[in-house]
Amino acid sequence: MKHTCPHCGKQSFTPLMKARCGGMSSAGKPCPECGVRCVNGKISLAVNSILRFAAFVMIIIIYFVHEPGNYMQVFWFGVVPLIAAFVLGFLFDMFFGKLIEAIKRQ
Ligand SMILES: [Zn+2]
Repeated sequence: MKHTCPHCGKQSFTPLMKARCGGMSSAGKPCPECGVRCVNGKISLAVNSILRFAAFVMIIIIYFVHEPGNYMQVFWFGVVPLIAAFVLGFLFDMFFGKLIEAIKRQ
């Protein structure tokens, strides 16, 4: 399954390439067919924001509730959610959401 380029309309982006295009605030990656730089659109922005916010909230909570000296607890509820947020966001970009042309200049 390939993703459609918003500029030339060809299915030129592989899931991995699409995920590496980044979000709306990044410079994006050029389309192999037409060379126009593309980024992931608004749905990706919303999903990534929610995931990172959820991870951030978990870190704040664990900061206050973890047992003193229990670093495994900090790891599982503070570090893992943060990594999971980025991995899930990356996977979401691979398979869902649409590409748009990059607005930002390089
Ligand atoms: Zn293109």
